[in-house]
Amino acid sequence: MGAVTLLPRYDRDNGWFETLPERPPATPLSGRVDADVVVVGAGFTGLAAARRLGELRPDASIVLLEAGLVGNNAAGRSSGFAIDHAHNLRAKGFGDTAEHERRQIGLNRAGQEYLGSAVAAHGIDCGWQWAGKTHAACTTRGARHLEHFADSLDRIDEPYEVFDEAATVDRLGIDFYRHSLHTPGTVQMQPAALVRGLADHLPANIALHEESPVTGIDLGPPHELHTGGGTVRTPELVLANNGFAEGFGIARGRLIPVITWGSMTRPLTHQESASIGGDRTWGVIPADPSGTTVRRLDDGRILVRNVYSYSRRSRIDGLARERAGRAHRRSFERRFPGLARVPFEYTWGGALSMARNGQPLFGRLGDGLLGALVHNGTGISRGTICGRLVAEMACGEGSDLLDMMLAMGRPNRNLPAPVLGWGVRMYTRRLQLQAGREM
Ligand SMILES: Cc1cc2nc3c(=O)[nH]c(=O)nc-3n(C[C@H](O)[C@H](O)[C@H](O)COP(=O)(O)OP(=O)(O)OC[C@H]3O[C@@H](n4cnc5c(N)ncnc54)[C@H](O)[C@@H]3O)c2cc1C
Repeated sequence: MGAVTLLPRYDRDNGWFETLPERPPATPLSGRVDADVVVVGAGFTGLAAARRLGELRPDASIVLLEAGLVGNNAAGRSSGFAIDHAHNLRAKGFGDTAEHERRQIGLNRAGQEYLGSAVAAHGIDCGWQWAGKTHAACTTRGARHLEHFADSLDRIDEPYEVFDEAATVDRLGIDFYRHSLHTPGTVQMQPAALVRGLADHLPANIALHEESPVTGIDLGPPHELHTGGGTVRTPELVLANNGFAEGFGIARGRLIPVITWGSMTRPLTHQESASIGGDRTWGVIPADPSGTTVRRLDDGRILVRNVYSYSRRSRIDGLARERAGRAHRRSFERRFPGLARVPFEYTWGGALSMARNGQPLFGRLGDGLLGALVHNGTGISRGTICGRLVAEMACGEGSDLLDMMLAMGRPNRNLPAPVLGWGVRMYTRRLQLQAGREM
């Protein structure tokens, strides 16, 4: 049996998850089970894959294995923007060719649509809102990024609105940003509530086992997957465990494991909230890729996200969490000086997997083995559509969207780990310095 040694470990520190009501205890896998298909990982990708498999093969037995608790994974630790087009205004190639960008947007929109249909069908209570996203800048450099973004959006005929300083202050209620650009096609939601809702409304032929990390595997087919408490045998395996797929021997030396961090305040009092003014809720994406994401939430809390740290084994360590918490504090106080005394209730990290060339790992990876992995930090929409498409591929259903995914490249090889770690740390440090006040 091959041991799976790269496993996620998440504490109970995630504000999105901890502020949800308690849920009945998980049912880990136990004993020996046979299944027609097994999906590993219940983030956005695995949940979409399992749901689609259940829709297309209602008579099949499908097992979904999750190492931890649904909602306490990266999916439920994200900032909750299901985007339609690039997050990162300087993303390589963004807007360079209209055709390429339209394909990317088409995939993301299909992901949004698949999520939205589940939210509507099951009345999932996750604050799902077509609120768009506001890219905001407080520096001249950031403003230049916004101009470049506007040019790119013009080239691909996508709508947006630009706000000057006064209008930005008016909308956000804080005197910090100098320019902003709003695009309408993004959904904002409570991500842990969304993934939990998706898990609670899977088709009846899916057996979800949380707290069931796959710690050993005998690759077949049939494949045998071993967790602490049980074993499941299957002819068809779908990997949807993002960078942790490296633990299964997949794409070794090709993925870049990073942690990014979020913090959440306690709910503001009525008076504190009134002292800000502006719209009651909003979501800001930084104009600079290493800047700070901020959301003003429906329950009166404020969310801050920034800092990328390289972690060879995708581990959240205490020291890095403290460092990220301090960075969040500085970013928060810069934006909300009048709320300097409002503490963070939660600070957490979540594991992402990037590829140097920005390509996903999608499609057939071996005999009876499929994967939908590596969404380069925008996995809410992209992971969802990749999960849906990999399930359709497993069922022999073709589509233009599937062809688009299959036509993409695969992650290219990295430098050896110590050099890679050093390189990523230097690179992220440089980006943070360049971001300056946008952090
Ligand atoms: C702080 C933060 C903010 C973010 N903000 C955004 C955002 O606003 N918008 C956006 O689109 N993206 C955002 N992201 C990125 C997004 O979270 C990821 O792209 C997304 O979660 C990827 O989905 P996934 O299902 O592929 O992987 P994951 O969500 O990582 O799910 C993989 C699952 O596999 C499980 N797993 C791993 N190994 C095993 C094993 N051996 N056995 C069983 N289960 C296993 C894990 O526990 C996990 O639940 C953010 C991420 C972070 C951390």
